[in-house]
Amino acid sequence: MDNCIFCQIAAGEMTSDIIYKDDEVIAFNDMNPEAPTHFLVVPRRHITNLEEAKSEDAALIGKLMTTAALLARQRNLETDGYRVVMNVGKMGGQTMDHIHLHFLGGRFMKWPPG
Ligand code: 5GP
Ligand code: ZN
Repeated sequence: MDNCIFCQIAAGEMTSDIIYKDDEVIAFNDMNPEAPTHFLVVPRRHITNLEEAKSEDAALIGKLMTTAALLARQRNLETDGYRVVMNVGKMGGQTMDHIHLHFLGGRFMKWPPG
């Protein structure tokens, strides 16, 4: 989608610190990290957010989760644990309108989040 930064990152049109890519998803380090490990897992295909997702997007959205787990194991974070978060819409704290999963690890997470 035009003017979408995450589409541009996925297309290689904007630089980012990419840590994983395949034909469906990419992952890159968050530019404003909230934890020692903070990356985003993003589908290449533009979906605005969970509210806009269709039933046919279920496998792709599930893959965001399984990719996060794969990258956690690669970083030896699976035993200590970590958090995955998806913000949806204005009150959910979503600022980038291209669906993405946050991965946060390397420190204790508070609950509930702010
Ligand atoms: P949201 O608030 O939408 O759930 O999360 C958006 C996240 O994207 C924020 O944590 C923000 O730091 C990150 N972000 C926004 N623009 C860029 C960018 O151009 N590059 C990278 N690496 N992260 C970005
Ligand atoms: Zn997009």
